[in-house]
Amino acid sequence: MEERYPISTYFIIVSIISGVISAVGKSKSYSYSGSANFLPPGLPKSLPPLPNLLADMLNSDSDSIHFASSDFGNIVRHAPVAVLRPSSLNDVISLVKSSYGSSTPFTIAARGCGHSIRGQAMAHGGVVVEMLSLREHAMNNNNRGRTVVSSVYDSHTQKNRHYVDVGGDTLWIDVLHETTEQGLTPVSWTDYLYLTVGGTLSNAGISGQTFRTGPQISNVQELDVVTGTGELLTCSPSNNSELFYAVLGGLGQFGIITRARIALEPAPTRVKWIRMLYKDFGDFTRDQERLISDNRRKQSKGLNYLEGILLVNQGSPDNWRSSFFPPSEHARILGLVKKHGIIYCLEVAMYYDDHYHDYVDKDLEDLLGGLGDIPGFRFTKDVSYVDFLNRVRPGEIQLQSQGLWDVPHPWLNLFVPRSRISDFNDGVFKNIVLRNNITTGIILVYPMNRNKWDDRMSAAIPDEEVFYTVGFLQASGFHDWQEFDQQNRQIIQFCEEAGISIKQYLPHYRTREDWAKHFGVKWCNLCQQKTQFDPKKILSPGQMIFS
Ligand code: FAD
Repeated sequence: MEERYPISTYFIIVSIISGVISAVGKSKSYSYSGSANFLPPGLPKSLPPLPNLLADMLNSDSDSIHFASSDFGNIVRHAPVAVLRPSSLNDVISLVKSSYGSSTPFTIAARGCGHSIRGQAMAHGGVVVEMLSLREHAMNNNNRGRTVVSSVYDSHTQKNRHYVDVGGDTLWIDVLHETTEQGLTPVSWTDYLYLTVGGTLSNAGISGQTFRTGPQISNVQELDVVTGTGELLTCSPSNNSELFYAVLGGLGQFGIITRARIALEPAPTRVKWIRMLYKDFGDFTRDQERLISDNRRKQSKGLNYLEGILLVNQGSPDNWRSSFFPPSEHARILGLVKKHGIIYCLEVAMYYDDHYHDYVDKDLEDLLGGLGDIPGFRFTKDVSYVDFLNRVRPGEIQLQSQGLWDVPHPWLNLFVPRSRISDFNDGVFKNIVLRNNITTGIILVYPMNRNKWDDRMSAAIPDEEVFYTVGFLQASGFHDWQEFDQQNRQIIQFCEEAGISIKQYLPHYRTREDWAKHFGVKWCNLCQQKTQFDPKKILSPGQMIFS
């Protein structure tokens, strides 16, 4: 198994490497000339010979290596031998072809924003491709042509069908701005938009819209993909469909996404955003499930977004991801939390525009009437559509300014079958979480409908019509992240012992057996697809599935 290095060891190694590199002169070559003795065991001393042009583009200076050896999780460090900053798609293709054609192939990881938690975008001893470099080159050349909005007439529905073509390196925030400028928008989002299209499509891309629109992977019409043999293929449900379904939710194993065609709809302009509080988990989940059910939605335009958050004794009912509750209400809300230990906060949103302006309040009243939330604890905001979707960004900026963004993030994201969510509440929220009392983070819990996911795609989800996503989005200090990790292990162990068939989202496993269990009936197929599309097991080694 690949070796992992604790952060302190890593820093020592990197400092030694940097020292040696600066001693031999600021090398831009891709081998650690002169530093081989100091490399961690397992790292090749250099890459096989590469075409000159490509070799010139590889960076092995300590800053580049340091950057590519870290991610948002700040928990593991895996040093690549070099970093490629491609200026064009051809650079990516050449790199993969060079590895594939070599008798000593090296691993390659596409890195979007590196917002992974456990080194998934790293390439220990291989090459990391900084996908954002494509974006920078396009911007420097004032080339916004990589994001193209198009409309075609669909004779079947007799309506225009809209879509946008974007690079795999594009940030979702840019997709939002560039499509809404034209009155259109994708329908499925993540909570946070400073993530790349390639990165989220490799996982699934989920948020409060997923119950209604499916995850982001359900809203892709076509992809361009560089496979592990260096071939650039266009794929869709009707063309190279096996590659298309493998790549979506495929954790980067089958190809590098260089273009995605994403479905668009007319963009609303405003959002009614509501939070209400529950003391009883049964009432909370019953209402969540009612609100996401098809029947409920048929009654009106329906909700566009639904999530849920746990409020535990954290000093403020708000969190960095959103300042929502009026400050004057904080004391009252905290009083509730103190009294009940946990308060469950249901969060919903309905989009509207000028045409719908006069109906939105009435529709919401009808939809939310008769729910079991605590009377007197409903709070509403009316915000622009763009601000709603970009709601996490102000919190990020604030944490950045306080130096609290680049800290360890021992996150755990799970999908929990609906039939066991109550047991999960009893065993995890009310027991492990309250007992450990280390919840300096956010805990999300909200349901989604399985019929909005496409089982032909690689993403692994529970085998029930409704399942919940539960996200433990914790931030810790550099010296105490193990405590959070320990809690994560307790949670997983509890589920195993209680027979709760969870699936990890943004998964992290160490053994092949665990991966086989994770993918379940899809596993054999995925192994065959790996052999077909990445036979030398070059791509995304940081996921540690086939390496
Ligand atoms: P990276 O971390 O750089 O890469 C992730 C994986 O994808 C790696 O294996 C990498 O090799 C591979 N990869 C990257 N680019 C490509 C490509 N072009 N082609 C093929 N493979 C590629 N996720 C959600 O679903 N919903 C959320 O609401 C959400 N909120 C988040 C909030 C924050 C603050 C953070 C840090 C993360 C959040 N995530 C969320 C998780 C996020 O979707 C994943 O971490 C995703 O992988 C991040 O994208 P990235 O561009 O940083 O990818």
